[in-house]
Amino acid sequence: MHGTYNLWLVAASLVVATLASYTALDISGRIAMLSQSRVRHAWLAGGAASMGIGIWSMHFIGVLAFELPIPLGYDLKITAGSLGIAVLVSFFALHVITSRRLTAARLIASSVLMGAGIAAMHYTGDAAMRMNPAIEYDPRLFAASIAIAVIASGAALWIAHMLSDARQKNVLAKRTAAAFVMGIAITGMHYTGNAAANFLPGAICGAANDVDARWLATTVVLFTLAILIITLVLSRFDARTALLAGSVTRLNGQIVRMATFDTLTDLPNRRTMNERIERAIRGAKQSGSRFAILFMDLDGFKTINDSLGHTVGDEVLKAFARRLQECVRGGDTVARLGGDEFVVMLENLHAPTDAEKMAERILDMMRKGLLAGKHPLQVMPSIGIALYPQDGDSVESLLKHADVAMYEAKRGGRSTYRFFEASMNEAAVRTLQIQQALHEALNGGHFYLLFQPKFRGKSGELAGAEALIRLDHPEIGTLTPLEFIPIAERSGQIVQIGYWVVRETCRHLARWREEGRPPVKVAINLSPRQMSEADLVANIMAILREERVASEQIMFEITETVAMQDAPRTIEMIRVFQENGFEIAIDDFGTGYSSLAYLQRFRAKQLKIDRFFTNGLDENGQEGRAIVSAIIALAHSLDMDVVAEGVETGSQLDRLQDMMCDEMQGFLLAMPLSAEAFGGMLEGSGVV
Ligand code: C2E
Ligand code: MG
Ligand code: MG
Repeated sequence: MHGTYNLWLVAASLVVATLASYTALDISGRIAMLSQSRVRHAWLAGGAASMGIGIWSMHFIGVLAFELPIPLGYDLKITAGSLGIAVLVSFFALHVITSRRLTAARLIASSVLMGAGIAAMHYTGDAAMRMNPAIEYDPRLFAASIAIAVIASGAALWIAHMLSDARQKNVLAKRTAAAFVMGIAITGMHYTGNAAANFLPGAICGAANDVDARWLATTVVLFTLAILIITLVLSRFDARTALLAGSVTRLNGQIVRMATFDTLTDLPNRRTMNERIERAIRGAKQSGSRFAILFMDLDGFKTINDSLGHTVGDEVLKAFARRLQECVRGGDTVARLGGDEFVVMLENLHAPTDAEKMAERILDMMRKGLLAGKHPLQVMPSIGIALYPQDGDSVESLLKHADVAMYEAKRGGRSTYRFFEASMNEAAVRTLQIQQALHEALNGGHFYLLFQPKFRGKSGELAGAEALIRLDHPEIGTLTPLEFIPIAERSGQIVQIGYWVVRETCRHLARWREEGRPPVKVAINLSPRQMSEADLVANIMAILREERVASEQIMFEITETVAMQDAPRTIEMIRVFQENGFEIAIDDFGTGYSSLAYLQRFRAKQLKIDRFFTNGLDENGQEGRAIVSAIIALAHSLDMDVVAEGVETGSQLDRLQDMMCDEMQGFLLAMPLSAEAFGGMLEGSGVV
């Protein structure tokens, strides 16, 4: 007896098989994401039911597509049995797919089991027709159908396992393609199985009166589609909820991280550091151990931020954070308190020298320079160290004292470290007083200028002067710039003070001119913060015009350290100064780390040798003299004049003259003088 196929129903069976496979894949992805075993089991059971119904109903549509010229029906119990097999097989399949590891042996064993299961479902379904005489099966096609079932199951399990991670790319498209492949495999098995069946002539269906085949198939198709779709929707909805729950957890994590870590450098922030110090105090109290707090900030960081922009500033902070982390040991804490302030906590200290070594290591690391974007920069920290328990027994006092020690390190020439000492507290109080005094100084007229003469090396004639600022406060007395300029620099007041110095110098120059004195050139010191003012030169020119002084009468001194901090910018700055008729001197030469290439490109008029080297002429004998002589030769070869600062003894003067030093400045020749005294000195000197 031969049957025929209704092609529409064959296509419908393929659609159902594909949809069932897709649902299975989607659910397996869902299950793989679940960690709670209760929910996992629920999904496994529900998924198995819908997938089983899907496969099973595909089988029935397939049966319906095959039309026999006799009435057909199905035995309800056996049909239910074949559905039960389909659900069991599906449960087993989902379980295998979603297990974390799928070894080759396991895949093969599972494929055989699943293939056998599908075949069992199929042939049980056939048995439900209770054909009489029974269906005869072609052994080869029968074997082929089982082989297809096993191979298709293997492929399906493997694909599904690969796709069970829902986080991979294009997962939707991959699943659709895989579902289609799986659908073809399942349908293929069915139709091969059908081809194996041989309905004997004259056979009748013993179940023809049980359940009507058409009615059953239609109900099954609708029922199955509904179940598959509902399962899919549920799975999607649950995935969304899980995703939402996942993002809330992530967000929560982010908030916690933001509250405890610094977003720029990813280091612990102030709050976290405070907690860790508190914990360290408790631990140290119990174990009797010691620990150190290293407080540091970057010298001249404000200048970098102002002149190169915040992006470069941020890069510098990140690079510094990385260097600090490279320096410390595993158990130590590095934190950023804010701005350019960083703290390192070293626990279980053997001796204070451990902290000292760490400070030196950090300084050494930073001396190598760093690259902020495309800017090669040399940024150095100043470090203050406070030790537990001797320098404080609370978070506040330890941090405050380390900060005070850092401030001392800055006053002590920067790029260095200091241990906290009780006397430093007095210095901190003094700093506060000076800050207060500076607030009142400009309006109160507490600043004044002294002029220290400079003399020519050979002839000893007056060559010019350097303007040196003083602060005379009614309460705290006279202060030298070494005391208040770093404070004004920190607060930014130096910018206004700087303009005041230029104006005041111009006024004196104008007065001397009115008094009929010969014109003289005065050098004015510039500090780092002023250098980063965008319209510095324009503002200075405006002052000169107002006071009617020619720019040839003024030169500016830039310290070597500041000039080298951002050499390309310094070159540009000097060019603008020179275009406006000003000369430039590199001050305190020898204290920074000059690159000769840059020194040449600065095209400064003068090089001022730091007092330290002049002093060395007497103190350091032959070696000291060799250094000064080399600096002078170098400056001359670069077409610069050399000014020796701090000449205090006759022997220094003699030696400098022998070395052809161009100009001298120092207490031996003249102290810094009041404007009147210097004006008097100009009389008859004929300087230019
Ligand atoms: P500087 O530019 O190197 O100025 C030279 C310093 O050396 C002056 O100290 C001067 O009084 C001192 N000095 C001169 N000859 C001798 C000597 O023979 N022996 C010794 N021991 N010292 C000598 P001062 O006036 O205290 O100034 C210190 C620094 O303050 C200056 O160093 C300069 O960098 C800064 N400064 C001074 N005035 C100003 C200013 O108006 N603006 C800015 N931005 N900085 C200033
Ligand atoms: Mg100077
Ligand atoms: Mg100097």
